[in-house]
Amino acid sequence: MANLPPLSFEFYPPQTQEGVNKLKHTAKELNKYKPDFFSVTFGAGGSTKERTLDAVFELSNSDFNVAPHISCISSSKVEIKELLDQYKSQKINHLVALRGDNPSGAINSGEFNYANELVRFIKLEMGDAFKIDVAAYPEVHPESESAKQDFINFKNKVEAGADSAITQFFFNVDAYFKFIEECQKSSINIPIVPGIMPIYNSKQLIRFANNCGAEIPRWLRFKLEDYADDLDSLREFGVDFISELSETLIQNGVPGIHFYTINYSKTLSKIIKNISQS
Ligand code: FAD
Repeated sequence: MANLPPLSFEFYPPQTQEGVNKLKHTAKELNKYKPDFFSVTFGAGGSTKERTLDAVFELSNSDFNVAPHISCISSSKVEIKELLDQYKSQKINHLVALRGDNPSGAINSGEFNYANELVRFIKLEMGDAFKIDVAAYPEVHPESESAKQDFINFKNKVEAGADSAITQFFFNVDAYFKFIEECQKSSINIPIVPGIMPIYNSKQLIRFANNCGAEIPRWLRFKLEDYADDLDSLREFGVDFISELSETLIQNGVPGIHFYTINYSKTLSKIIKNISQS
């Protein structure tokens, strides 16, 4: 993929044997595009811990570079340290460090409040054993009281030792580039890789966007609704739209693209073929 920036692909840990087989197939297909790494999500409070570990080791035993996500909310320092030791002993050297979201109504019994505390803890306990990615929010994290405060909180994660960041998915490229501009002004020099969500399913995408504060432009929301019951047309439209979005980012020199795969490879393969030909 000579003309493409480094790519990475995010998976969630499957729940069934069928899901495990599908993930293996997806990883094999996406590995054709020589990704920098695959990442595997981690349910807040350790809710997917075993499944995440299984998926991470399955992928790393197949010689893929893997970056497990760790979310710290509701976890103790001992639990996190055990996880870090496990990863280090398996020669994993890259993590995505997050706070995570407590399920509504859950009591936070953990020892971490925010992701910057996790980053600091990893650095303190493990030195430079891991490259650390953190999350960034060009459209502002939904809980934030203000964009200004959210940016300060992001800067805290960088100062705690993050090596790079991956953004929440977005459809407004302006929001991403404004965020990059602000980082440059504040002497934040780590790579900030755009996270891109291909369009697989209208209802699911609208739900994800509502939960994480990603703005769906009015015209796009109408398109998604128009195509809701026609998956083939939706995906065809989605491949074109996400290819164009990715091309714009690449033309403007992004340091990489992180794709949220939801464990699918077909739609993404079409997008990558498009962007590698442009
Ligand atoms: P933080 O950086 O801690 O920020 C959370 C909120 O707290 C923000 O509003 C921030 O402004 C605010 N804040 C930060 N510090 C302070 C402070 N000191 N005082 C007051 N407010 C503060 N979730 C999962 O559960 N598992 C995953 O695997 C996962 N992977 C993700 C991968 C990516 C690339 C992204 C973008 C998100 C992912 N998430 C995942 C979702 C993420 O956990 C949620 O967005 C969560 O709400 C915030 O996590 P964070 O690490 O950004 O938290």
